[in-house]
Amino acid sequence: MIYIHIPFCKSFCTYCGFYSEICHGDDTPEVHKFLSFLIEEIRRRRTSLEEARRSSPHTLYMGGGTPSVLRAEDVKTIVRALGYDDYEEFTIEVNPDDIVGKGEDYVKRLLDLGVNRVSMGLQSMDEGVLKWMNRRHSVDDSVKAYDILRTCGVGNVSLDLIFGISGLDDTVWEKSVRDVIALGPDHISAYQLSIEDESILRQYVEQGKYNEADEELCRRQYDFLCSELRGRGFRHYEISNFALPGREAVHNASYWRRLPYVGLGPGAHSFDGYRRLWNTSSLDWEIQQEILTEKEVREETIMLSLRTSEGISEDLLPDTGAKKRLLAEGALEQSDGRIRIPETHFFVSDDIIADLI
Ligand code: SF4
Repeated sequence: MIYIHIPFCKSFCTYCGFYSEICHGDDTPEVHKFLSFLIEEIRRRRTSLEEARRSSPHTLYMGGGTPSVLRAEDVKTIVRALGYDDYEEFTIEVNPDDIVGKGEDYVKRLLDLGVNRVSMGLQSMDEGVLKWMNRRHSVDDSVKAYDILRTCGVGNVSLDLIFGISGLDDTVWEKSVRDVIALGPDHISAYQLSIEDESILRQYVEQGKYNEADEELCRRQYDFLCSELRGRGFRHYEISNFALPGREAVHNASYWRRLPYVGLGPGAHSFDGYRRLWNTSSLDWEIQQEILTEKEVREETIMLSLRTSEGISEDLLPDTGAKKRLLAEGALEQSDGRIRIPETHFFVSDDIIADLI
């Protein structure tokens, strides 16, 4: 599993706390600097790349930031430097405005490079909400971009949504969910809005311009999403992720199983089974690392496994009072040697996991 962080965005979205640099073009000194650092990192970490290839699914995920700000020839430079052409899954994150602006030729060139899955950040199908989020695209762009992807033959499309915005009326959310489903994606990721430290939204909160949405509203919107997607044949395989049968993300599912991965680019994280490594967040990044303690490994295993519908092997969850109580309350269920959080309790999974660790 290889993750590559592309740290550029044309503007910052209100809620975003990811590391990214503003970029006003795809042929700037910053982009060139990033690419040469990245190519050097690929060369330096070849042994880790080979180890990850042997011990986890062979996937490539280009995330960001906004990978679609890069020219197709720059994506090609990265793919060539990695040197593999047999990815089981090769996902690239795109923004609708880039796909509309660059058109079919761009998408076809990405497919020629081996991309076989596209994850597109729609976030909402409401103009007012998109504007509030400071997204660069309109609802019309989302529909056009989706059509371009399908016309070009992208066979596996995932769309992102955000819920739990205070003041976001349920009817607006419900329409967004229905409109996104109507497009016909293979996979949907939906995240509850959170107030990230580095975000513009955090400033709004501090200035008294925004209050976090109440839990009841978030729960209602999450429940609506779950029930609509269930009705359309989507499998709720992780708290925030829904897939048509066979369309579960191979790359992301491997994170939850704690398989080794190599993250390249600024801010990217890596894991080799016992060490967590991360790159600093700047255009001349450095690698740092920590060795996980047994306690950290145990807690991380519980946390990641219980976020998924597969749950955790019952041997890995010690018999504590909390476990017995949660089983008795129906907040955990046990079958086939595994313990899971039922979908009805996914929304409060953080509390359940905190009880267990
Ligand atoms: S949400 Fe995506 S496009 Fe928006 S600022 Fe963050 S990384 Fe950039």
